[in-house]
Amino acid sequence: MNAERHRWADKVVFPNKSERECLHCGLVKVSRREFEGGRDVYWTEFWRGLDRIECDGTPACEPAREVASA
Ligand SMILES: [Zn+2]
Repeated sequence: MNAERHRWADKVVFPNKSERECLHCGLVKVSRREFEGGRDVYWTEFWRGLDRIECDGTPACEPAREVASA
């Protein structure tokens, strides 16, 4: 069984970063850029809601199955 692939929405561009959200699971991929030590440094972060996901590579696409308790 193949893992779900993320389906990225259009990129939203900010001055020092760009974001794209997965339409399936709501994961946000943030591509950041900062000028440091005389050169541009790039890196990628993954966020789900307010939580940053610590991981190697891209997290799996896992649409939330739990029902949000209001
Ligand atoms: Zn996804």
